[in-house]
Amino acid sequence: MRMRSDAVVLFGVTGDLVSKKLFPALYELTRRDRLDVPVIGVARSAWDDQQLVTMARKSVAEANDEIDDEIFDQLADNLSMISGNYADPTTYQRLAQRLRDAERPVFYLAIPPAVFGSVVEGLAAVGLADRGRVIVEKPFGRDLASSRELDRTLGAAFAPERVFRIDHYLGKEAVEGLYAFRFANRLFEPLWNNEHIDNIQVTLAEGFGTQGRAGFYDTVGATRDVLQNHILQVVALIAMEAPARDDTEAFRESEAAVLRQVAPLSPQSTVRGQYAGYRDEPGVATDSNTETFVATRLTVDSPRWAGVPFYLRTGKSLPGTATEVVVEFKQPQRSLIPAERGTTAANLLRFRLGRGDGITMSIQAKSPGAEVASRPVDLSVDFGAALGRRQEAYERLLDDAMDGQHLRFARAETIEQEWRIVEPILDLPAAVQSYEKGTWGPADADALAGGWHTPDLR
Ligand code: NAP
Repeated sequence: MRMRSDAVVLFGVTGDLVSKKLFPALYELTRRDRLDVPVIGVARSAWDDQQLVTMARKSVAEANDEIDDEIFDQLADNLSMISGNYADPTTYQRLAQRLRDAERPVFYLAIPPAVFGSVVEGLAAVGLADRGRVIVEKPFGRDLASSRELDRTLGAAFAPERVFRIDHYLGKEAVEGLYAFRFANRLFEPLWNNEHIDNIQVTLAEGFGTQGRAGFYDTVGATRDVLQNHILQVVALIAMEAPARDDTEAFRESEAAVLRQVAPLSPQSTVRGQYAGYRDEPGVATDSNTETFVATRLTVDSPRWAGVPFYLRTGKSLPGTATEVVVEFKQPQRSLIPAERGTTAANLLRFRLGRGDGITMSIQAKSPGAEVASRPVDLSVDFGAALGRRQEAYERLLDDAMDGQHLRFARAETIEQEWRIVEPILDLPAAVQSYEKGTWGPADADALAGGWHTPDLR
């Protein structure tokens, strides 16, 4: 039987992820009565308990309009710090001592992947891997081989059911909403195939650049940072078959199964771009060939999707920030009613997955006037207004991992499939194409999709 974790250990507690996402998530879980267990921060920095509480308060304050002191104090009472080096066995001995009463601690590795190995070995050496769960963040390696190597490292210490791999897109309610939309509505599923759908576009656009992390970004690039994980995760939810049963493993199997049917991406159908001025940023090589933009065409080799292109793009310094899926339906078989000049006759379903999440359905309505023609009009719902507050991704993921619930975490095989798909377009020797900041990437990317639908920038 799965039992809830009775302690949380945050490795890398001094870092960006903990401050931006995990402290606010812990506060929210405390507020919802989902967290009242020891939370131990570990880092090399010489922080004491008071510093940890101060930093936690600062990050909770940044994420919330106001702090409920009673809730924060409850969280603060549970916080404590261990500072130490990851190569030093006494760091883990002190941790084991602190966790002597915990039967099922969860370890969050919010540290650079290069350190995963020593931490995992250190935990195993003091017996904590046998009774704990471990959460690892993307990136899971840099390619298929290093992702397998990482799995071997984790697997040497932790049993598979104790490993939780986070792609936080799976924890976003809006992204999970794609699955609910497809399988909770009778209306669209009969149309969800190559007979009725012309093409599908996925855009993950960032209206900002590297935000002071150019040195890190230059070793990664858009394909590894976003396409391999978040975008393919979205593709899986859009394209997967209905799970055979209503349970976690059936869901994860459907997700992996559709990725197995995706053909490796081809360099000929891929456009890589780099925004002008990127090479001047601190930490970026002056001759950097790292892509800050990538657009590509993906195909799913299945009876449902044969002949339907999936156009995918992501980039930095684009005209705005938005994550969207646009499903473009085929035009009516007989065009009795012409579309007004300059408009599209196709129905569109637009899933807004980022800020202002919701759905817009573009349908044809009769144009006003004597002429019988049609023009697209939008039916739109804003989920924030319709459904109220939804949980933050990290809040749900931490809650799930503490419960030992794997539904929103990727299987090792899913990640391997994602690497297999992107492998042919990693580290391409062809030079990246330059694009101006504030544009939708290089001109060749426009030609790729034969017309992208401009995201709804809110
Ligand atoms: P970070 O700020 O760069 O590093 C986290 C902490 O790790 C640092 O505060 C540092 O703490 C420690 N650290 C750094 N280099 C180290 C080294 N060589 N050896 C040992 N410890 C080291 O990382 P992050 O942005 O929080 O990300 C943590 C993990 O989440 C990474 O795997 C990252 O890829 C992943 N991730 C982050 C984000 C995000 O939004 N930040 C998003 C997705 C995934 P001390 O020096 O105090 O020990």
